[in-house]
Amino acid sequence: MDRIENLCIAKGMRMTDQRRVIARVLSDAQDHPDVEELYRRAHAADPRISIATVYRTVRLFEDSGIISRHDFRDGRSRYEEAPETHHDHLIDMTTGKVIEFVDAEIEALQEAIARRLGYRLVDHRLELYGLPIHE
Ligand SMILES: [Zn+2]
Repeated sequence: MDRIENLCIAKGMRMTDQRRVIARVLSDAQDHPDVEELYRRAHAADPRISIATVYRTVRLFEDSGIISRHDFRDGRSRYEEAPETHHDHLIDMTTGKVIEFVDAEIEALQEAIARRLGYRLVDHRLELYGLPIHE
């Protein structure tokens, strides 16, 4: 059983065959697919799956905190399994490629800023948008 399916069951979700396929597609994804891409992959595994089912299931998983939604400014919501450890994203504006990174200095700086403003930091999102440097 994949991780997402396990989380669904732990949350008491009823797992149909179709939900299981979509959970597996999300677990297997190394990228940050949008609903149409998820539909392509899920439909290839089970042709009975409709795009409406993918929309509904993704919404359900998101509302349950099992997956995270991102908006990388291309008008499409993208999804990934809610990460166990935090990471941020750099988006290549020419290809749309999404690169994950963690930087301890940035993490510490953000906490320091929140503290200075009188807050304990509980979450943040950081997206960098870049053009490749050709040298
Ligand atoms: Zn990510």
